[in-house]
Amino acid sequence: MNYKAFLNTVSSKVHSMPVVILYVTEGCNLKCLSCSYRLPMPGELSFEEIKDLASELGSFGLKHIVYSGGEPLLRRDFREICAVFAGLKVKQTLLTNGLLLAKRAVEFKGVFDEIIVSLDGADAATHNRLRGVNSFDLILDGIQKARLANSAKQISIRTVIQKQNFRQLPGFIELAKQTGVSRISFLAADVSSEAYGRDNDPARGDVAAESTLALNKDEVPEMKDIIYQASLKYKNEFESWLISESPGKLGHIANYYAALIGMDTFPENLCNAPMVSSVITSTGDIHPCFFLPKYGNIRESSFNQLINSGSIINTRKKVKLMEPERCQKCVCTLFTSSRRALMDRF
Ligand code: SF4
Ligand code: SF4
Repeated sequence: MNYKAFLNTVSSKVHSMPVVILYVTEGCNLKCLSCSYRLPMPGELSFEEIKDLASELGSFGLKHIVYSGGEPLLRRDFREICAVFAGLKVKQTLLTNGLLLAKRAVEFKGVFDEIIVSLDGADAATHNRLRGVNSFDLILDGIQKARLANSAKQISIRTVIQKQNFRQLPGFIELAKQTGVSRISFLAADVSSEAYGRDNDPARGDVAAESTLALNKDEVPEMKDIIYQASLKYKNEFESWLISESPGKLGHIANYYAALIGMDTFPENLCNAPMVSSVITSTGDIHPCFFLPKYGNIRESSFNQLINSGSIINTRKKVKLMEPERCQKCVCTLFTSSRRALMDRF
């Protein structure tokens, strides 16, 4: 029983931090339309700093480390970083664009609980256009190499559904079946926060305008119909959880795009991400989640001091009521029930 995590879900002060998303680098080898991460940030956390952070997180109830970025596999000492967290006996998940999987899969044999590979097109032409680099075939090869090498217990695909790929929804499901992954999940494109490097930092690359990602008034009903048809055709795939979302949850993606153009209200969100998780960037900034602003830096204060500072407690109170506008428009919520927290399921 994890009583500390349980208490997190019923209060604004946290007693442990079960899930941490760590950007091991903000450098990336793709050039996605919706994201500006390109080169590593100056002064990224060193291996020694990550080791110290891991030790602090370990004594603060860490259960699950999620590596993100940027592209984590670009970091040469990433295998050593994983070994540090393996020493804490926590669950390890890798979020990756998959481009280096073919090259590094064997090195990570038995390391991850889950590898989640982002794919933005169900065919090479679409994926390569949206991701700015000819990468589709290499990524599919990487998925197979990671499966063969047992780099993870589970390999999944994640797709951001938007204007330029929503008609490929059935194609993505077919691709998931062909590649033999454990599951495929879909989410809407975030167009209203500074996440994914959309913060106008001159050190980063350009990002696409909202209009190139968001659906228009003719496309929203078309997307709803595609989801409906998929719910009939892929009944087994929904029921077996090959598709992580239910048809109703996929419908929320269409509703979100409808709301962006004033055709509907935003789907109701439920989230307690800041009560059970933290996002730490490659330069040590700490955020309550992917989307809300930072509230400190681990180089300036210790994680323990930051995690219950006045400003984050205030943010947690607001998130409980879903007050921040970003929460109302959020495309990637995280909700952990008190029961699940008590059962230590992170
Ligand atoms: S979305 Fe991911 S893969 Fe694409 S540029 Fe950004 S960090 Fe790289
Ligand atoms: S709803 Fe979204 S923006 Fe709000 S706390 Fe949750 S993850 Fe963050």
